[in-house]
Amino acid sequence: MLKEDCLFCKIIKGEIPSAKVYEDDKMLVFKDIEPKANVHLLAVPKDHFKLLSEMDGGRAELLAHMLEKIPQIAAENGCGNGFRLVINQGADAGQTVFHLHIHVLGGQELGW
Ligand code: AMP
Ligand code: ZN
Repeated sequence: MLKEDCLFCKIIKGEIPSAKVYEDDKMLVFKDIEPKANVHLLAVPKDHFKLLSEMDGGRAELLAHMLEKIPQIAAENGCGNGFRLVINQGADAGQTVFHLHIHVLGGQELGW
C-alpha cells in the first residue's frame, strides 16, 4: 500500500522524478539527490512502511529480497570495490523520510 503524502511513495508512483537505476515488482533503486559519497543510491521497498522496527515476517522477506539484489546493483553502479549499507531509524539517526530505505554508499574509500 502506498501512502498519499509520502515522498518515496510519490517517487515510486512516478509523480516525482528520480534517477532510477533498478526496478522490479518489490523495490526501486534510485540516486540520492544529495549524495554523501561518489555513489549514493537509495533502495526503497514498493510497500510503504515507516521504520525498520515495523519489520514483520512478510516484510522481512522483502528486506531479504532487497539485500540479495543490492550487491549486483551496487557493482553495476560503480561500487565494484565495495560499498556500505545504512538504514537510519528514527530522529536520533537523522531519518528524514519516513519510508524505509537502504542507503548504498560507495565509489570511493569510505571513512567513518
Ligand atoms: P534519511 O535521512 O535516512 O531519511 O535519508 C533520506 C535521503 O533521501 C537523504 O539522503 C536525501 O538526500 C534523500 N532525498 C530526499 N529527497 C529526495 C529526492 N527527491 N530524490 C532522491 N533522494 C532524495
Ligand atoms: Zn511511502
